[in-house]
Amino acid sequence: MDEPRDPATLALHADRGHDELPDVAPALRPSTTFERMDGGWTYRRGDADPAGRLETVLGALEGGFAVAYPSGMAAVAAVLRWLGPVRIALPEEVYHGTRAFVEAEADRGVWELAGPEDLEAGDVWFVETPSNPKCLVTDIASVAAEANERDVVTIVDSTFATPVLQRPLGLGADVVVHSTTKFVGGHSDALGGILVTGDEEAAGMLRSARVRDGAIPGALETWLTLRGVRTLAVRVGRQSETALRIATTLDGDRRVERVWYPGLVDHPGHDVAARQMTAFGGVLSFELDSPAEAARVVRALRLFRRATSLGGVESLVEHRIDADSGAPPGLVRLSVGLEGSDDLLDDLDAALG
Ligand code: PLP
Repeated sequence: MDEPRDPATLALHADRGHDELPDVAPALRPSTTFERMDGGWTYRRGDADPAGRLETVLGALEGGFAVAYPSGMAAVAAVLRWLGPVRIALPEEVYHGTRAFVEAEADRGVWELAGPEDLEAGDVWFVETPSNPKCLVTDIASVAAEANERDVVTIVDSTFATPVLQRPLGLGADVVVHSTTKFVGGHSDALGGILVTGDEEAAGMLRSARVRDGAIPGALETWLTLRGVRTLAVRVGRQSETALRIATTLDGDRRVERVWYPGLVDHPGHDVAARQMTAFGGVLSFELDSPAEAARVVRALRLFRRATSLGGVESLVEHRIDADSGAPPGLVRLSVGLEGSDDLLDDLDAALG
């Protein structure tokens, strides 16, 4: 038999034989320290393999070598600090936490914010696609090609896409980052982050830096994330189908000013998304004509729960300005879960009034 390549299969089998226990489900091992044995682990932050199985699965899914962190932001911070660029270029729209981190460090003189055209060798071109919250799309292959010509490092935050829908390393990117808190974990119960790079040596150096910095993911969170990733492909497939149905319905609704979803042909990133993704993901946003109307609608929804974050099995809604002061005032972001699409559409129809 050929090696499996389907993400649904890899998510279940890439870590087969990872430890010697016969358990089909991975064991949860919270111990921080280990009885000394020849060649065995000694201390959890030091030489243990705290997230090894999860890293094996995510490495297989992205086609590289993965390093796990206690949150998505810990992963973003770890790779940027480790690379230590002089300049960083951020996209037009990027998760507000990433922007806040990069700008705060720029204010301290750690690096400078720059446009992509000003980047030089060793600098970082950071991309988030689709982006939070308007799902703007960046052409990963063309950014990577342009960056490679100047020895600029490309990092792609692929949280919205997941490795099931998009594989940035195969398109030429150097590093992929995910907040596994979102779709990868998928159940709104475990914070986590992951970096994946095609360079095995770099992954090893990032792991050593993680031991020094102490940014080790917890045992329970790692276990929950591994449990979650097993069903990633079916969840994301279903979430993408429902999101496309909702986006299409809202797009034809006179009560809605504008819908942001890359699966819609009139979304500015549709063609690129159709090329670099296999479906369009479970997040969409729409704009209403005033912030007051957006505030009313998010409170009127019953199945979509009013909470930040995304990618879980339960549908969530957020008046985005509550979390991100830079978001358009009337913008409502939906994270589509696994409820029936008829029920979710009824809920939206009733709330829009
Ligand atoms: N990247 C994106 C695109 C996000 O949406 C988020 C969180 O919402 C993060 C990174 C940060 O992840 P975490 O909350 O796990 O630190």
